[in-house]
Amino acid sequence: MSLGLTLPLTIMPCQLAFFKVANSEDFIPGNFPIFLAHLNEKYGQFPYGLPACDHQGLKLSTFYGWDTVETIKEVDYTPSLQWTENLRSFLKQYLPNANGELIETRRCLYTMTPDKHFIIDQHPEYANIFIAAGFSGHGFKFTTLVGKILTDLVIKKETEYDLSLFKINRFL
Ligand SMILES: Cc1cc2nc3c(=O)[nH]c(=O)nc-3n(C[C@H](O)[C@H](O)[C@H](O)COP(=O)(O)OP(=O)(O)OC[C@H]3O[C@@H](n4cnc5c(N)ncnc54)[C@H](O)[C@@H]3O)c2cc1C
Repeated sequence: MSLGLTLPLTIMPCQLAFFKVANSEDFIPGNFPIFLAHLNEKYGQFPYGLPACDHQGLKLSTFYGWDTVETIKEVDYTPSLQWTENLRSFLKQYLPNANGELIETRRCLYTMTPDKHFIIDQHPEYANIFIAAGFSGHGFKFTTLVGKILTDLVIKKETEYDLSLFKINRFL
């Protein structure tokens, strides 16, 4: 069913990787933090990582900096080895003990809005449809709240939260 909407959403295929660490005790939760670095270098924008859990190695990716595509057909799911090598330059400089063998790497997708803010709103034409989309790579941590907001909107037609930042008409 067509919803009669044309939104400027794009797809950002990003890639994450797990690297073997030298002293595994140093990289387990409790000894090593979840981190996000405010850096934008050859390895990408905002490198972030998680401690090594269950012998899976250190998880590393970059928050943004990936080329976007317009349609899902254009997504190349093949992991880029060039990218994993670029990330090694971050490991070499900041976490040399985590610059081990590549255990695993895979791609996953963000749905981006132009301003990187979400869309949470009623459909402009069909009052019975509510939309929550375009989470731009940072929607997971808000899922419980977004679920509550959507439930209130659908059942009560109102929410106690200010949704002005997330209006759909900023893109129409
Ligand atoms: C590598 C990576 C790291 C991330 N890290 C973070 C983070 O640290 N913090 C954070 O806040 N966010 C993070 N995000 C973003 C977060 O995962 C997304 O913003 C969030 O999952 C979007 O939720 P959603 O419900 O819109 O879409 P999704 O989570 O993609 O859910 C859509 C669901 O719909 C299903 N579906 C699709 N089509 C159909 C269909 N036709 N019929 C039925 N079902 C269908 C899919 O299978 C899927 O289960 C990350 C994303 C990626 C890719």
